[in-house]
Amino acid sequence: MKLFDVYPLFNIEIAKGIGCRTYDKQGIEYLDLYGGHAVISIGHSHPYYVQKLTHQLENLVFYSNSVLNNLQLELAEKLGKASGYEDYSLFLTNSGAEANENALKLASFHNGRSKVIAFNKSFHGRTSAAVRVTNNPKIVAPINEGFDVEFYELGDIKSVRKSLQNNDVCAVIIEGIQGVGGIRVPESNFLQALSAECKSVGTVLILDEVQSGYGRSGKFFAHQYAGIRPDLISVAKGMGNGFPVGGVLISPIFEASYGLLGTTFGGSHLACTAAIAVLDILKAEHLMENAKKIGDYLLEELKKFPQIKEIRGLGLMIGMEFEQPIAEIRKKLLYEKKVFTGASGSNIIRLLPPLCMSKNDADLFLDRLKDVLKTEIIA
Ligand code: PMP
Repeated sequence: MKLFDVYPLFNIEIAKGIGCRTYDKQGIEYLDLYGGHAVISIGHSHPYYVQKLTHQLENLVFYSNSVLNNLQLELAEKLGKASGYEDYSLFLTNSGAEANENALKLASFHNGRSKVIAFNKSFHGRTSAAVRVTNNPKIVAPINEGFDVEFYELGDIKSVRKSLQNNDVCAVIIEGIQGVGGIRVPESNFLQALSAECKSVGTVLILDEVQSGYGRSGKFFAHQYAGIRPDLISVAKGMGNGFPVGGVLISPIFEASYGLLGTTFGGSHLACTAAIAVLDILKAEHLMENAKKIGDYLLEELKKFPQIKEIRGLGLMIGMEFEQPIAEIRKKLLYEKKVFTGASGSNIIRLLPPLCMSKNDADLFLDRLKDVLKTEIIA
């Protein structure tokens, strides 16, 4: 059987990872400024994480959600404390898309509506609120089975307000920082107005923090810069540091009942162990503070590159927009300078490194980028 060919691949086989570095089969070291789509939060193969997972693996990987699982309780308690949402409840899933699907379901159960507002260039996984952020003409979007999704410009509160006033919008879903769409940070006053408008018409506000959450922005959730408290918050990616786990943080206005939501694998023993280890390390090693410190440093230094048209982001979620396509720059960074980066569309390089990135790592990257951009100009 061959693989269903949906991913363009770099011809490198990563065999090992430590902290902010990865190593290919030949043992060549790479600086990892991508963390496998923002997934690596505490760093590759952290010894505490490895030890906890190994121990759990030797005992129990999984049982079903029909028996008491104290690891789920421990995770919920630690996540509540770390995020400042102790009064919310946690529903565990396996991915970001599943977290968003469940958030949308909960919202529609809550107010009986089916219209959803999302934003241009947003990405919420392969879900009911998916939007096309690719140039592939074969992809028809939006994909919105069951939900009727309206899209507005990020920041256009006037149009959103107008639509909300029909009193038929189930939910507004918005990323803490748009990731796939190009690292766009919503203005705090826009988020505050959105939150107030939603409250006034019974619309559920869903903050998708799948990419921008878990300390990456320098706060636990990016929306906390605006001081708002959404009704539902979806998480995944950095939550398990590579182990697939996601969840929805649910405000006390939602009432649980048996059978309302459900999943086979969500909240397995191994997944919870991974997620607990991540929270323990985030706290013990002050990685959120580190993300802010190194992120601020990178943002400041990157502004000095005249070749970069615009730098956007918060903490270790950074977008570098160029006038020209960035494919060649990324290739040179990877194959010549051994640096992994991400992309958004054709002109934006996306940096999503592990939150343990050091100043030394940042300087190494800046030096290598300098070299590549110089050769770019000469070429
Ligand atoms: N929401 C956002 C903001 C994302 O960036 C992604 C993944 N890129 C998802 C949801 C979907 O997550 P998953 O791939 O785990 O389903």
